[in-house]
Amino acid sequence: MEVKTLKRKWARISIALWYLGLGLSIVVSGLFGDWLEEDFGLPASGIMGFGFGLMLLGIVLWHGMSRCPCCGERGRGKSWVYRKTYCSRCGHVLPFDDGPVHEEEAPLDRRARFRLKRGWARLVLALMIAGLACMAAGVLVFNLLMPRPRNEEELWNAIETIWAIRDAGIYAVLAGIAFLAAAGVLTRRLKCPCCGQGLAAPWQGRDQVRWCQSCGAALAFEDELEYE
Ligand SMILES: [Zn+2]
Ligand SMILES: [Zn+2]
Repeated sequence: MEVKTLKRKWARISIALWYLGLGLSIVVSGLFGDWLEEDFGLPASGIMGFGFGLMLLGIVLWHGMSRCPCCGERGRGKSWVYRKTYCSRCGHVLPFDDGPVHEEEAPLDRRARFRLKRGWARLVLALMIAGLACMAAGVLVFNLLMPRPRNEEELWNAIETIWAIRDAGIYAVLAGIAFLAAAGVLTRRLKCPCCGQGLAAPWQGRDQVRWCQSCGAALAFEDELEYE
């Protein structure tokens, strides 16, 4: 029986779109925004939006084009060249069109099993939520509360409010970035103890096992019942 493979070209297009979008939104509109706006009449915010759109398109594309033939999980194993990658949901090796037809894999019940501390997962999850909430709040404060003076007099009357709102927005976004960075640092606590590459998902449920994407070990959290 022929196995449906994942196509390398879609992984590459998706990665290319993501980096192109990142470059456009951060480098181009960040560094050359003023110059583009003045000399070419291109709005920096438009370019940034377009860049974010491309990044999103890259993610959505890979999600649509990559389907694990064993369990139907999507969006796994994206890489530029072939790497042996296990599906994190069902634990089988993902077949790619440029990889070996049959990769060897140990049977699921004979893989190494690790139990990670639940406390770290909770902390990472809380930091991620707090970070996203702060960033969203900062952006909303900027967009919704900022007064829009129509003439100079109104501007001078509102200048204190404008400064206060600007500061509040910036601090909220910075706090969000700090929370997300802390979450990023702490994810190392969720790494596969065997290879240090794959990650357990902090939102993994009580009796849920995820398989390390690079070595195929079973990752679960401590409060899960022992079932060996
Ligand atoms: Zn799978
Ligand atoms: Zn591993």
